[in-house]
Amino acid sequence: MAKMIKIPKDKEVPFAGITPAPTTEQEMMITGNWRFMRPVIDKAKCTRCRICWVYCPDACIVEGKDGFSVNLKYCKGCGICTKECPVGAITEVPELDFPDGVVRLEKLF
Ligand code: SF4
Ligand code: SF4
Repeated sequence: MAKMIKIPKDKEVPFAGITPAPTTEQEMMITGNWRFMRPVIDKAKCTRCRICWVYCPDACIVEGKDGFSVNLKYCKGCGICTKECPVGAITEVPELDFPDGVVRLEKLF
């Protein structure tokens, strides 16, 4: 028989999936360690149209003073942003190409 997982009371999700407070990061669900391809944004090509920001299903595209970046803690490498960028400013690069790539980490995040 499958073992039941006990979820701490303060981490429980209320009925119908309503979260009790706005949250930008859910530490119980770090999706970044699923990734084997990393989206890399070429800031010189980026026109700041925000299409990647709209399409990212995990809200991982972050806008800063110097352009857009990716929250690698939660980006699962689905590739949607790469496909939707109208100017080809995002490239998918294998995690193995990075010294801090997900596959190289002993402890994931
Ligand atoms: S690869 Fe997927 S999860 Fe990661 S930033 Fe792009 S759209 Fe979001
Ligand atoms: S979709 Fe492409 S051009 Fe538009 S903001 Fe994202 S990276 Fe920049």
